[in-house]
Amino acid sequence: MQIKIYRGTHQIGGCITEIKTATARIIIDMGENLPSSDCSVQQQLEIDGVTKGTPDCNAVLITHYHGDHVGMFENVLPNLPIYMGKVAKQIYSVVQNTLKNKLNKGNPERVNTFREFVVGKPLYFGDIKVTPYTIDHSAFDAYMLLIESEGKRILHTGDFRMHGAKGTKMPAVFEKYCKNIDVLILEGTMLSRADERVISEHELGMQAYNLLCENKYVFALCSSTNIDTIAEFYNAAIKTKKPFIVCEEDFQSEILKIVTQNTISPFYKFDRQKIYSYGHNLHNFMKERGFFFLGRINYVTQKAIEAFPNSLLIYSMWSGYLDKSHPAFDEYKSNFVDSALCNGCRMVHLHTSGHASVEEIKKVCSITSAKTIIPIHSENPDKLNDIRIAGNIVVLQDNQSFIVG
Ligand SMILES: [Zn+2]
Ligand SMILES: [Zn+2]
Repeated sequence: MQIKIYRGTHQIGGCITEIKTATARIIIDMGENLPSSDCSVQQQLEIDGVTKGTPDCNAVLITHYHGDHVGMFENVLPNLPIYMGKVAKQIYSVVQNTLKNKLNKGNPERVNTFREFVVGKPLYFGDIKVTPYTIDHSAFDAYMLLIESEGKRILHTGDFRMHGAKGTKMPAVFEKYCKNIDVLILEGTMLSRADERVISEHELGMQAYNLLCENKYVFALCSSTNIDTIAEFYNAAIKTKKPFIVCEEDFQSEILKIVTQNTISPFYKFDRQKIYSYGHNLHNFMKERGFFFLGRINYVTQKAIEAFPNSLLIYSMWSGYLDKSHPAFDEYKSNFVDSALCNGCRMVHLHTSGHASVEEIKKVCSITSAKTIIPIHSENPDKLNDIRIAGNIVVLQDNQSFIVG
């Protein structure tokens, strides 16, 4: 078996990994570069048999719906099957549909043709067996993939963590299904952010509850597909009897409806309290009852903040976007926050990472007893050498092949 990382050995995002044998070839993720990465030339990455030429690939498997893992799906040759989690596919279809309606981009039709993973059910591509397992990540319905062929076992973690809603279950899942791994393809975002304090989603929920108790009017900025965090906010709103308001009913509510319909966990049931769609007609009601407003960085939320100045603003996204000295600095987000502050809002940062802390990375290496570890999705993969783990660390370059021997 041969592993080739087309992109993502020394950057966060833009992930594309290939695994092939003499008779079969699969691609894991088809990610686009994050806007912050200085790799615009590579954006047009072409792969023979996958994005151009005659189809020569059994399948493209997408671990989760974040753009840095799926964003280049339209480049995949039309006849090649693309796989994704069932619920992830539905959510991504809504995202693509919204892009199409608003910006005339996106391709929901193609997404609707994706085939679906079933947890624990193996897929066979020639002599390659792939078994998808649910993984804890800030994207809902995300997967790690166990790839078996020629008597060897490769585990591709996808993006992962152990401090989200499914986090406490993860060690047992690794223990049960992912032991004795020959090669671990390991997501290592936090290797270069080792000092960042990581709280659990549960802890985030408790802090949110306290903030909602103390503040009558609360806005929050959070990714519309970060379901764990939204569920914590929703539960905090229920406990504090605050109306839960979203700014775009057709988009955010639809995503939450998909989650509600596809899960048995009460934690993810977004039908326990009405979700209001924001409009001027709600102003008196909001004034009287107080509210939790799940906003987005857009005009509608900005106008709502202007109508309720001096509110609390919970910033629940990565702080790097607001850091002028960071390459990922996002002027649009920064300007939005500045305008909220000008309206008298008090801002608190309340966010937790979608990625494994260094301790969690260590734990996965230990449980899987991986013989070889290939870090990806990291700005500084060499830092894996600084943490004490057993196993041979192999830092590849983009386009470099590794033979699983
Ligand atoms: Zn990612
Ligand atoms: Zn991700």
